[in-house]
Formats: sequence, C-alpha cells, structure tokens
Amino acid sequence: MSHDYILGIDLGTTNSLVGVVDSGFPILLADSEGKRSTPSVVFVRPDGTLQSGPAALRQRALHPARTVTSVKRLIGRRQGEGEWQPPYDLTALGSTPVEISAAILRHLRDIAETRMETTITRAVITVPAFFNDAQRNATKRAGELAGLTVERILAEPTAAALAYGLNKLDEQKKIAVFDLGGGTFDVSILEMRDGVFQVLATAGDTQLGGDDIDRAIAAHVWDHWSANGGVWFDQLPAEVRVRLTTAAEAAKIVLSDHPTARIDLPFLWQNQSLSIELSREDLDKLATPWAERTRAHCWRAMTDAKVKPADLDEVILVGGSTRMGIVRSIAADIFGREPNTSQNPDEAIAMGAVIQAGIIAGSLRQIVLLDVTPLSLGIETFGGLMNIIIPRNTTLPCKAGEMFTNAVANQESMLIRVLQGERELAKDNWELGRVVVPFPPGAKGSARVGVQFSIDANGILEVLTRDTVSGRDTILKIENTAVDVDDAKVEAMISESVEHAFEDMNERVWTESALKAKELLPAVDEALAQLGTEIAPDEAQRILDCAREVSTLLASEVHDARALKAAVALLDDATQTLAVMLVEKAMDEALARRGF
Ligand code: AMP
Repeated sequence: MSHDYILGIDLGTTNSLVGVVDSGFPILLADSEGKRSTPSVVFVRPDGTLQSGPAALRQRALHPARTVTSVKRLIGRRQGEGEWQPPYDLTALGSTPVEISAAILRHLRDIAETRMETTITRAVITVPAFFNDAQRNATKRAGELAGLTVERILAEPTAAALAYGLNKLDEQKKIAVFDLGGGTFDVSILEMRDGVFQVLATAGDTQLGGDDIDRAIAAHVWDHWSANGGVWFDQLPAEVRVRLTTAAEAAKIVLSDHPTARIDLPFLWQNQSLSIELSREDLDKLATPWAERTRAHCWRAMTDAKVKPADLDEVILVGGSTRMGIVRSIAADIFGREPNTSQNPDEAIAMGAVIQAGIIAGSLRQIVLLDVTPLSLGIETFGGLMNIIIPRNTTLPCKAGEMFTNAVANQESMLIRVLQGERELAKDNWELGRVVVPFPPGAKGSARVGVQFSIDANGILEVLTRDTVSGRDTILKIENTAVDVDDAKVEAMISESVEHAFEDMNERVWTESALKAKELLPAVDEALAQLGTEIAPDEAQRILDCAREVSTLLASEVHDARALKAAVALLDDATQTLAVMLVEKAMDEALARRGF
C-alpha cells in the first residue's frame, strides 16, 4: 500500500528533526542510533562526497576544516559576509550552503524512508521567522536538491505555537514564543483565535544562541587554565578550539541539572591535560550577557504587536538553550510570568512542522496559518525615497499595489527598484531586484504604471508591473540567492531605523521640500518676468527675498530640512497674489483670443 506521507522537518542550526503524521498521530522519527534529533553536520570527504548526521559530527574533532557545522548561519548569504566566521572554508571544500543543507535534508529523508519503509517526496520545512525571501528560497532549493517537493516553508515560532496549541484551539489567546536555539534567537507574538494562528509581530537575532555560550565557556576555561602559555583562545588551532567548545557544551548541558560539571581534556595543549570544575554560578555569569541580549528583542516584538506583558496569556519556550535556568529566569523577568514549559523545547518546532504536514496531507483537521513579513517591502520613488508597498509585520499571504507616473516629460521608461528595509531613503535599504518598465513618451504625469507586490504563504515575493496604456505586464520573481542583503543585519536594519529615525525623517523632508522648491523657483521667475511691473514694488521685493532664501538653503551643504520647508512655505505664501494674477491673465488672454 502506498502512503502519501509529507515530512515535517525542523532544519535547525545545531540539530535537525523529522517526523510524519502516522495513523492520525504526529510522531518524530529516530535515526539508526535511536536519536530523534540528528546533528546538522556534514563531513566533506577528501573525494568531495558528503556524509551527514552523527557520523559526520564524530569527524569534527579530527577534521574541523572538513566538517561543516551551523551552515544555517550561512544559508542565502554570500560567503565572507557577516560577523560569524566558520572554522571551515566552504568554497575551498567545493560546496555551497544550499548543497550542505540538501545533504542534511537527504539524511533526514533517509531516516524517514527507512522508518516508514516507503519512498517519501514531499516536505514542510521550518525556517526562523526572520529569514528573508532569499533565505526561504535557498531553504526551498535545498529541499528540492534532496529530492523533496517543498509544500510549505513555515516560520519556526508559528510551528511551535501549533505544537503547543493543538489542545487549546477554541481559546482566544495571545502568546509569546521565545525561541533560543543553538544559533538563532526568535521571539514572536501570536494570537490564537478559533483555530487560527496569527503572527502579530516577530523580532530576533540570527547570530545569537547556545553556540555563543559554548564559546564563552570555552574561552573562560582556557583563560583560567594555568598551562595556556599566554596564548589567546582565538589564536588556538581550530582542532583545539573545537575540543574545548565541545567539552564546554557538554558541561553546560550537565549544569542544567547539576550544580557542578567537570571538563577533562587529556593532552589538550603541548602535552598538558586540562581538568577544571565549573559551577552553575560560573555558567550563569558567562551566559547572562548573551541571555540578556534577548530582552530588547522581546520588547521590540511586544511594541510592534502593541501588547504589554500583562496582555499575554502564555509565554512558551522553544529551543534547547531554554533548558538553562538562567535563560528561563530572564524570560520570566521580561514577560513578568512563569513561562510554559509543558512541551519538549527541542521538539516543539519539529512537532509543529509535522502537524502542518499532516494538515496539508489531509490527515489532520484544517488549521489556517498566518505568517508575517519581517521587513517592509517597497520601491524607490523620485528623489531616492523609499515608498513602502507592504509594511513590515503584514500578515501573509498578501497583495498590495500602487500606481506611479512619470516625473519628467518625455520619459520613456521607469526603473522599478524593489527594496526591503525600514529606512526612509532608498539607498539605506536593500535592493532585491529591479525591472525597467517601458511606456510611450508623453507629458509629465501622463504615464500610468501599476506596481503590485504579492507574497505567497511561503513568504516568496512576486512583483508585477503593468503599463496600463499598453497593458504590458512584467513579472519579477525574487528568487536570487545572493541578494545584496546581509541577513545577519536584518535585526540591525530594524534597530538602525529607530536610531536614524530623526536624520532619516530630516532627509525625507529635505528631499520633498527640495523637489517642491525646484518646481517653484523657475515658475516664480517666469511669473515675475510676465507680471513684475503689475504688482506693488514691495511685494515683488518680498517674493524676490523669499526666492533668494530658498535658493541659498537649497545650495547649502548642510541639509536644514526645517528651514527649507519653512522657506518654501513662505515663498508659496508670498506668491499667492501673483499666482491668482497669472491665472486671471491667462483667462483674459484666452477670452480675448475668442473675441470676447
Ligand atoms: P536547538 O537549536 O533547539 O536544537 O538547540 C540547541 C542548543 O541547545 C545547543 O546550543 C545546545 O547546547 C543547547 N542545549 C540542549 N540541551 C541543553 C540543556 N539541557 N541545557 C542547556 N543547553 C542545552
């Protein structure tokens, strides 16, 4: 009998999990070693073939440069970008992040096919809520490379909420999902209403997780070891750092349940063996600065969702690092309540993915899932300003559009630059793609170009442009891998937008006032030439003074937006009579031409 299983996959930074709905029950599948969580590690053999899973992890201590870990931190991003430096050189190994992820997915697929004794070709894969289009696409392509049709790319907190929410579907609740894993931190505010999950806001940091704490412990242990010979942790050969970090992680996990843990590393450095005891207090001290970094993101998400801690009905913890006592107490402090830890934090996301897969396969009751856009999407308009078409935190799928026209006469085409980001000026945002829309030349304002953005349930953007005169459509699908977007800076973009809000607003006001001034000044010159003698000399002088003030401000290197705006308003005001006279004169002339 052939089953049409759909895999639910949590493709994690450190570990990955896979499951299916079998006979109406969501289950996670164990690998050949009996573990339901398999390391997201790939060993690149000297002949270029790839080995995944626990066997690959065992190669790490011996061949750190050939063992690819935390590849999720690189996915969808050009190599060499960002802060995180992997202990391997993927290019030198002849592989790409997508190929490595595909090897992990292939391994998960093998586990499932062995357990279910059938071929499986469809999957739902989770990604951090902060993943942008390029990263979601890269994940999708990795799935395809592993021979899977990717039915849905699902945001991790949404999946987690699904895992927690199954038995509470009828209740109207607002919840926070606090997810601190190995490599990424995500926090989302969701609303559950009659079986519908709605993501109200998300925030996070793609460069924060348990790995950072492991490194902090490893560096601390090294620094406190008398035999370190004055060498810095960062200067150590990769193998030594990996041994220390692996031992640090093991000690950290022991410390979640025990007051102390020992780290023993025989012949670690120059034939000397390391043996150190670490206490829970040591760990808390080392982990606190990292755990505290979650606080600002939680507040940001709550602010965006317009909720206060007291409005939340539940706070759920997801990700292996939330097993740490210090992380739990910081989360409790941020949200002012004890978090719900009823689900296994390592498995909640995978469970959610399996449940979603079951829904798509028709083996579970239908629940509608709604996701949101992590950053605003828009296009560049005249003067280099960002014109937002879909604001950040809009529920997916969504569609929105606007009509644009030509700013100068006889323009023959319009360049549409698709931008992502929160800054007022186009140049500060990221370009996702561009398209040139041709149209018949005509007077200023005669062209009509419609631009429509639509984002599907997987968060993939399609831009449709239409010249309404010719009816010609151009469709731009944003699917490029190496978008000029440094994904590590997605969060930075948001905090920068807040930081620079004042200057950005200043630039926007400046640009808008300058555009207006450049239209007004020649018109004033022309009107004075025509009617200068017909108005009172002091009024003409006032107009000239105002115009000179505008020109001076416009030419100044310092962009004083408020002054320019005020000066343009004064000039506008001073020329009111002149404008009326111009209109009257034009009418008189028109009437005279017709013989009245
Ligand atoms: P995840 O990405 O959700 O698989 O989480 C992996 C991270 O959780 C890694 O950094 C692990 O070291 C960490 N982790 C797993 N179990 C524990 C534990 N019991 N105590 C502390 N950290 C843990």
